[in-house]
Amino acid sequence: MMMKAAVMRAHGAPGVLQIEDMPIPQPGPDEALVRVKASGVSYHDVVERNGTYRADAHFPVVLGYEIAGVVEKIGERVTGVKIGDRVCCKVHHSCGRCRYCRNGMETACAKRRSVHGGYAEFVVLADEVLVKLPDAVDFASGCMIGPTIGVALNAVRDVAKVRLGDRVLVTGASGGLGLPSIELAKSAGATVIAHTRSEAKAQALRDIGADHVVVAGDRVDFSDQVMALTNGDGVEVVIDNVGSRVFTPCFKSLAMGGRYAFVGQLFKEQISINPARIFFRRAQLLGVGSVRRDQLEDAVRLVADGKVRCHVAAEMPLAEVAEAHARVEAGNVVGRIVLIPGEITP
Ligand SMILES: [Zn+2]
Repeated sequence: MMMKAAVMRAHGAPGVLQIEDMPIPQPGPDEALVRVKASGVSYHDVVERNGTYRADAHFPVVLGYEIAGVVEKIGERVTGVKIGDRVCCKVHHSCGRCRYCRNGMETACAKRRSVHGGYAEFVVLADEVLVKLPDAVDFASGCMIGPTIGVALNAVRDVAKVRLGDRVLVTGASGGLGLPSIELAKSAGATVIAHTRSEAKAQALRDIGADHVVVAGDRVDFSDQVMALTNGDGVEVVIDNVGSRVFTPCFKSLAMGGRYAFVGQLFKEQISINPARIFFRRAQLLGVGSVRRDQLEDAVRLVADGKVRCHVAAEMPLAEVAEAHARVEAGNVVGRIVLIPGEITP
C-alpha cells in the first residue's frame, strides 16, 4: 500500500518539499505504525530544509518530528500503546540502557535517534517515544506538546528552576518555545519580561500573560530596558530561545547569581565573553536539552488540565507544505502551523 509524503531530496527553498507516493512503512518488533493526524512545522524543520542546521542529511528524507495521530498497527514487543490509541511523541528515541538513560538523562542517550517522518500519512515510531494523548487534547495541539511545552517545562521548571518571585526574561517569546515558557513561568509565580523582534507580536505576548514586552531587533542591546523594568537588579532567569544574536544583551540583563538557560540557537554566529564577567556576575550558564518522557507526560497533563495552552496558528493540508515552510521561514507566525494529512485506508 502507498501513502502520500512530503519528500525532500536536496536542501533548498520550500519548493524542495515535494508530495510523492511512498510505500507505507511497516513497524519492527518494538515499533508502532501511526496514522498521522497532525504534524507541526517548526523553525528547526526550516533550517533542516534550507541546510543552515547541517549539510549532511541522507536524502531522500521526510521531515516532521512533531507528530500526533492514532496507532494503526504494533510490533509484537510493543507494550506501551495499543491499536486505536491516540498518541503524541518525544523528539528523540533513547535506548533506556546506557549510562545517561540510567541517570535521568535520556535526552543525552548515547544511541539516541531523532524522530522524523511526520510529513506523511503514516509514520513508524518506536514504542518508547509514544505518549498517550487524552481525548481532551486535539491532534493539532497534541503534535507540538513535546518540542514546545515539554522543552519549555524542562527549561523553566527543571533546569532554570524558576521560583515564586523570580523575574524571568524570555527571548524569542512569540515562538513555539517562547509562548509556553511565558505561561509556565507565570504559573510558577514569576514576573515575565518577553523579548520579541517584532512590534506586531507585542500585544499577543501581553495577552498570554507577559508582564512586560521588550521589542528589539537583532544585535540591539536591550539590557537597559530590562534593567529599568527590574529596578536595576536584572533578571534572576533568562530563558533564551534565540541564541547568539541576543546573548550579550541577555547576559547583561542577568542579576547577580542569575541562571542563564540556553534553549535555542537560530543562527550560526558564535558568542564571545570574558570569563571574568561570568564569575563576577556569579552567573550559572545552563544547557537545556530536549524533553524527557516524564516531562512530556507532565506537559500533556498540563495541557489536558488547561494549565498551559498549545498555540495553533493555522492548520494546512499536507499538500501545502511548501507554503507552510515559506510562512514559518518569513517569521511572522505566532504559534505553530500544523500540517494535516488526508485520509486513506491502508
Ligand atoms: Zn541510552
